[in-house]
Amino acid sequence: MKIVLQNLTKRFPSRGKGNREDVVAVKDFSFEIPDGKLIGLLGPSGCGKSTTLNLLCGLQKPTSGRIFFGEDDVTDLPAEKRGVGFVFQSYALYPHLTVLQNILFPLENLKGKDKLSKEVMREKACEAARLVQIDELLDRKPSELSGGQQQRVAIARALVKMPRVLLLDEPLSNLDARLRLQTREEIRRIQRETKITTVFVTHDQEEAMSISDMIVVMKSGVIQQIGKPQEVYDNPVNLFVARFLGTPPINVFSGRIDGGRLMIGEDTVLDVPGTESQDVWIGVRPEGFVPNENGPLHCDFSGIEVMGRDISVVSTHRCCENAAIRAIISADSKVNTQDQTVRFSLKPGKVFVFDKETEARIPLEQA
Ligand code: ATP
Repeated sequence: MKIVLQNLTKRFPSRGKGNREDVVAVKDFSFEIPDGKLIGLLGPSGCGKSTTLNLLCGLQKPTSGRIFFGEDDVTDLPAEKRGVGFVFQSYALYPHLTVLQNILFPLENLKGKDKLSKEVMREKACEAARLVQIDELLDRKPSELSGGQQQRVAIARALVKMPRVLLLDEPLSNLDARLRLQTREEIRRIQRETKITTVFVTHDQEEAMSISDMIVVMKSGVIQQIGKPQEVYDNPVNLFVARFLGTPPINVFSGRIDGGRLMIGEDTVLDVPGTESQDVWIGVRPEGFVPNENGPLHCDFSGIEVMGRDISVVSTHRCCENAAIRAIISADSKVNTQDQTVRFSLKPGKVFVFDKETEARIPLEQA
């Protein structure tokens, strides 16, 4: 089922004595989630991700704007009538109930015409447990499970009513690195199998990029960019988005456009015909550097970090905002570091230029 958010705004009244301004957690948020897709809602702490989920599931009411599930306007519908499954970061399992009882819980609360027989409830609970592969653990209590298993119980409990929409709020943050990787693939598999429209909240860009059909990057309650993960990575609309996506992060230089030449310090790194002369921010992805004895960009060599298939050439430059520049190149490339200088040419498709004031991307018409 598709979800439409229409000019959604959520304002919280100020409580502080000194600060009388309201907090606008979500500001004029509009976007459409296509049926059956997994959307990653991504942004730094406090950017309004959880508030957006709370508005979607009905735990909070928007100050203005509407929410549609399919053709239904659900804005004024209470949470329990929206058909939403919610998985919290903390799992929120009932410690005194077994795994089976935890999964059964949402079904036991159905009333009136929705009430199910004991047999049907058990069947549905076992099916959800099978889907997340915990059907062997039904008699255990949450304290007898690993973090990853507890997370699966939480997902089974959210899925047991076959919700119209599944919302996952930082579901992997309590797991260790390996389990995170494994569980995020599991979530993707379950989502593909059930085809439930899903919104996944995380501040971890790698996580969002790896499992989402589309990502929504937020900053201070405002959508910055929506798109397929690769498209957003390759075409960030502003410096914030460029910085937020990518590990190692993009290398940002203070530079200028001067007579159709893109300059970092005294080095002309690219020709950029047709662009107005001005001071700019220049972002270079780590994979955008090509070591080249005659390359235009001169950096001070610091060292090499071995990463296996690739290496990271670490250097510095007085115009670079990052403490260290990281250039990712293939392990068998030659790097000349004579006199502690390393020279690079840049791949034009991996270089982005941003307005110095607004930080919006300046389109380049490359030579
Ligand atoms: P995190 O990643 O840290 O969970 P988030 O992106 O989910 O952050 P939200 O929890 O949605 O961010 O909060 C967005 C903003 O709204 C923050 O500035 C937060 O302090 C504020 N906020 C959230 N809930 C309330 C509330 N009930 N009352 C007042 N302000 C709130």
